[in-house]
Amino acid sequence: MNTLQTPIDYLKGVGPNRADLLKKELGIYTYQDLINLFPNRYLDKTKYYKINQLQRNAAEVQIVGRIINLKMVEQKRGKRLVATFQDETGILELVWFRGQKWVKDSIKLNVPYVIFGKCNWFNGFSMPHPELELLTEHKANIRSAMQSIYPSTEKLTNKGISNKVKIKLLQSLFQETGGKFQETLSPLLLNELKLISKAEALFNIHFPKNAELLAKAQYRLKFEELFFIQLQLILKNISRKHKIKGFPFDQVGELFTEFYHNHLPFELTGAQKRVIKEIRNDLGSNAQMNRLLQGDVGSGKTIVALMTVLLAIDNDFQATLMAPTEILATQHYHGITELVKGLNINVRLLTGSVKTKQRKIIHQELEDGTLHLLIGTHAVLEDKVKFKNLGLAIIDEQHRFGVAQRAKLWKKNTFPPHILVMTATPIPRTLAMSLYGDLDISVIDELPPGRKAIKTVHRYDSNRLKVFAFMRDEIKKGRQIYIVYPLIQESEQLDYKDLMDGFESISRDFPKPDYQISILHGKMKPADKEFEMQRFIKGETQIMVATTVIEVGVNVPNASVMIIESSERFGLSQLHQLRGRVGRGAEQSFCILMTSYKLSTEAKTRLETMVRTNDGFELAEVDLKLRGPGDLMGTQQSGILNLKIADIVKDNDILLLARNYAMAILKDDPSLLKEENSILKFTYQQIGKYKNIWNYIS
Ligand code: ADP
Ligand code: MG
Repeated sequence: MNTLQTPIDYLKGVGPNRADLLKKELGIYTYQDLINLFPNRYLDKTKYYKINQLQRNAAEVQIVGRIINLKMVEQKRGKRLVATFQDETGILELVWFRGQKWVKDSIKLNVPYVIFGKCNWFNGFSMPHPELELLTEHKANIRSAMQSIYPSTEKLTNKGISNKVKIKLLQSLFQETGGKFQETLSPLLLNELKLISKAEALFNIHFPKNAELLAKAQYRLKFEELFFIQLQLILKNISRKHKIKGFPFDQVGELFTEFYHNHLPFELTGAQKRVIKEIRNDLGSNAQMNRLLQGDVGSGKTIVALMTVLLAIDNDFQATLMAPTEILATQHYHGITELVKGLNINVRLLTGSVKTKQRKIIHQELEDGTLHLLIGTHAVLEDKVKFKNLGLAIIDEQHRFGVAQRAKLWKKNTFPPHILVMTATPIPRTLAMSLYGDLDISVIDELPPGRKAIKTVHRYDSNRLKVFAFMRDEIKKGRQIYIVYPLIQESEQLDYKDLMDGFESISRDFPKPDYQISILHGKMKPADKEFEMQRFIKGETQIMVATTVIEVGVNVPNASVMIIESSERFGLSQLHQLRGRVGRGAEQSFCILMTSYKLSTEAKTRLETMVRTNDGFELAEVDLKLRGPGDLMGTQQSGILNLKIADIVKDNDILLLARNYAMAILKDDPSLLKEENSILKFTYQQIGKYKNIWNYIS
C-alpha cells in the first residue's frame, strides 16, 4: 500500500506530463496533496426539474423528457445542431456547436432521456452541450448522486486534465490506499461533537453518498481545519507571553503625570481611559506587548498613542510612531509637537523627503539616545535607522502595513519593543479574536462628546447644480469642503483625467478670487503636497480636490463637507474612512455620495448602508457579507485566507466552537501531554514541517 507521502508521479493515470501540470498548476506533489484537493462545489443530481420550473441564471439542472425534433442550422461559421426537448410542462432547446454529427447520429427521437446542464435564456431557455443519458440507462447506473467539481485552471483544462480526469485520479488513489486514513482528531472531540471519522469524511467529501453525509464530511473537515489553526494561534500567544520578554515599564513617571494633569486639551473619554489602562497593564508586566487598538475614525486614538509614548520615555526608552503616508506622518508630527510643548521632549520627523543633513542629525540623536520620539513613514524601518534603546513602536492605520514590516520593527532592539498597532478599520470582534489570536485587542467604542452625527446623502450626477449651490452656502458659512475622486491603479491614467477634469470644472464654477481651491494627489512631490495641505489647514483654500491620499487620518476640523465622486467605485470601508475626514469639529457635517444612474446591486447596498449608518462596526459587518474577509486588515498576509474548506465568514459558528475547544483543551493540558490528547499533539507537531496546514492534518 502506498503512503500518503508517495509522489503523485506514482499514481495510476499520472504520467510525467500530468505530474508536472498537477504540481505547477495546483501544487499537488503527493498523494496527500491530491486527497486534500477539495471540491469547490457539487452538482446535485438527486433533483429533477420540470421545464416550467427553470429560472434564469440558475445552476445546472437535470430534466427528464423526450427529443421530438432535430435539425442542423446553418450559421456564419459552420453549423449548429438544435434539438427540441419536451416534458409535460414545456419545451427547451438543446444546442451543439461541436461534434454535431456524432451527436445527431446517436440521438434517438421520442424516447425518454435525462439531460443535465446549465440553461441560458434568450427568448426562451436553451441548454448548450447537455449531458445526455437514456432514462433506462440512467436508472441502471450506480453513481454518486452528488458529483464533485474540482478547482481547475485554464491550462489544466486545455491540457486535458478535466474534472472527469480528476475524479478518476481520486478513484485510483482511494483504490491504491484502500481508503484507510489515519485519524487526526482525538476520540474525545469525535465523541463529544459527533464527528465522523477522518477516513469517512475524506471519502464523502470526494464521493458523497448523499447530501447528509456530504454535510457531515464538510462539517468535520471544516472543524478540523479551524481547530488546528486556533490551537496554533493560542499556543503561539501563550509561548510569546512566556518566552518573549518585554521591557518592563514599571513606573508611571513625571512626563505622563505632568501631561495628564496640565497638558491634556480635553477630558479623556471613558473608552480612552480604559484602553490606556489596558496598555499600562501590558507594559508593566514582563511580557512584550503586542496589542491591536481598534477605534472608529475620530475616536481619538492619537492621544492614546501619545500617552503610551510618554510611558516609554518615562522609563528611559525611545519610541517610534509610524504612519503609512507622508501627509499623515507630518500631521502627527505637528499635532504631537503642539501637544507636548513645554514638556522637554525631543521629537523628530523622518520621511522619504527628509534631506541628508537632517537625516544625519536624526541618526546621531537616535544612537546617542537624545531623540525620544521618532515619527515617520516606512523610512523608519530602514536598516540605517538604529535606536539606542527602542522600547515602543506604534503603527498607525496598520492595514497599510504588512506583517513583514512589523517583523522588521522587532529587530530594532535586543528584545522586541512593545508594539501597538492602531486601526480604524473595524473588524467584528469575534472575527478579530479568531483571526488575530496572537494579538491582544483593545477597542475604543465611544466618540468624544459633542460630535454631531454626519448626515450622509446619495445624489446622482444630474443633481450636480444643486450640490454646487449647497457648497456655496456652506462656504459662505465659513466651512471647508473636500471633493474626492477615486484612484484605482489599473486605470491610473484615466483616473487622473477624471481628477483633472473635475478640478477644472470646479475651478470654473468656483472662480478666483472668491474661491481658492487646493489639489492633492499621489503624483505630486511631497513638498507640493505639504504646501497644498497647509493652505487648506490654514483655511486659505475652501475646497480641497483630491484623490484618496487624504483617506487616512487627515484632520482638519473646520472641513465639514465631504463629496465623494463616482462613489460606487469605492469599497465600504474606504467610503467610511473618507467620511471620517469630516465631522471633526462642532459644526454639522455632511457627506455627499455622487454616482451615475448605473449602479450594481452591490453598489446600491453599499450606498444605502452608508446613508443609513455611521457605525463603523455595522458597516464592517455588511462589508464582510458583501465581499468576504479578503479586504480586511492584514488578512491577506495572515494566511487565514488559505483556508481550504472552511469559510471564515460563513463558518463563524464552527470557528467559535473550534476556538472554545482549543482553549479548553489547552487550559486543561497546556503542553498536550495527556494520553487523551496524544493524537492532537502528534498532528500539531507536524505543523511547521509543511507549509500548508492540510499537509499536516492528514
Ligand atoms: P483617530 O482615532 O481617527 O485617529 P484622532 O486621534 O485624530 O482620531 O482624534 C480626532 C479628533 O478628536 C482630534 O481632533 C482630537 O483632538 C479629538 N479628540 C480626541 N479625543 C478627544 C476627547 N476625549 N475629547 C474631545 N476631543 C477629542
Ligand atoms: Mg488617526
